[in-house]
Amino acid sequence: MLTRKQFLQLSGTSILGFSLFSSASAATGSKSQPKISGTGPMKIDIKTKKLILKHTWTISRNSSNFKNNVFVRIERDGIVGYGEAAPNVRYGEDYQKTTNRIRAAEDILKNTNLFHYVNIKEAIDKRITDQSCAKAAIDIALMDWIGKAFNQPLYKLWGLNTADAPLTSYSIGIDTVEMIKKKVREAEPYPILKVKVGTHRDKEIINAVRSVTKDKPIRVDANEGWKTKEEALENIKWLTDQGVEFIEQPMPASMIEETAWLRDHVNIPIIADEAVKTAKDIPKLVGAYDGINIKLMKSGGLQEALRMIYMAKAYGMKIMLGCMIESSVGISAAAQLTPFVDYADLDGNLLIANDPFSGVKVDHGKFIFNDKPGIGVEGTF
Ligand code: MG
Repeated sequence: MLTRKQFLQLSGTSILGFSLFSSASAATGSKSQPKISGTGPMKIDIKTKKLILKHTWTISRNSSNFKNNVFVRIERDGIVGYGEAAPNVRYGEDYQKTTNRIRAAEDILKNTNLFHYVNIKEAIDKRITDQSCAKAAIDIALMDWIGKAFNQPLYKLWGLNTADAPLTSYSIGIDTVEMIKKKVREAEPYPILKVKVGTHRDKEIINAVRSVTKDKPIRVDANEGWKTKEEALENIKWLTDQGVEFIEQPMPASMIEETAWLRDHVNIPIIADEAVKTAKDIPKLVGAYDGINIKLMKSGGLQEALRMIYMAKAYGMKIMLGCMIESSVGISAAAQLTPFVDYADLDGNLLIANDPFSGVKVDHGKFIFNDKPGIGVEGTF
């Protein structure tokens, strides 16, 4: 039994507790905090920006000194989300078509509650059937908005621990022997290199890299450059002796059977890049490739990339997160998923001279995350 005194003390506590709770509720509902409905008036800006490369960028297919990337800014309920598209000629993309596709999907964003981002993805997948980078720009901006609406970085919303993120590699494009040596020296702070090959001068390229760094782990990307399985086998056997960690896309994407044969004849992992864009491409690669390289520009954004990660894990495949030549918008977006993957190759923003944004940084290959909400970028275009 409670004494009268104890009863009065308890009542007092609960009355006090209630009044505190009431005033807290009142504060949250105050006029200074407008409600984030996800349905307010929508503003969408789209702009192409020329990103200048620090060095001419050459891979087995082509060469470039700049890239025209398309940036998207969405604003609703006082919250801004940024996205980026990096159109790639390999996939028949250019900045004009990309801009047109984004414009053609504007009404989906305008007419849907942004919190229903899964519905938006499905509608956009139906509306945009080429220029996957246009889908990526929209999805990145949308997920940036979502993260900001919840006031959390996306990696936190997905339950990921940034301590699990792998180191990123740094890419060395195809060049003269002298320039390759110079680039490898410049890349001294990066603990892992990804070297572009797929030419008739591959041995010269690797020898140039190894003349500067004897032991640094190197990964090799042939970008579909070797045209027969015999040529690929001979090259990979030699590369294995040079301490190469894995080979990316040795032969054309369509040569799945030949790649399965190749995989049976070599001792290092083979990773698919051009052979995989979205989750539906993964099942046919099982047995031919040891892993996949996911890029937001191919997948059409973060939501599909996440689906690909879960699917590749279900098949026991290795996962790399890669990029095109992108600013800190595309790179910081992809970095949010790195704690979930085996390898990272997110150096696109490090290769450009005029990044309009800043976000997730890299120090000696290690991602330095910030705790800003969404994709964690600052800047504008
Ligand atoms: Mg590649």
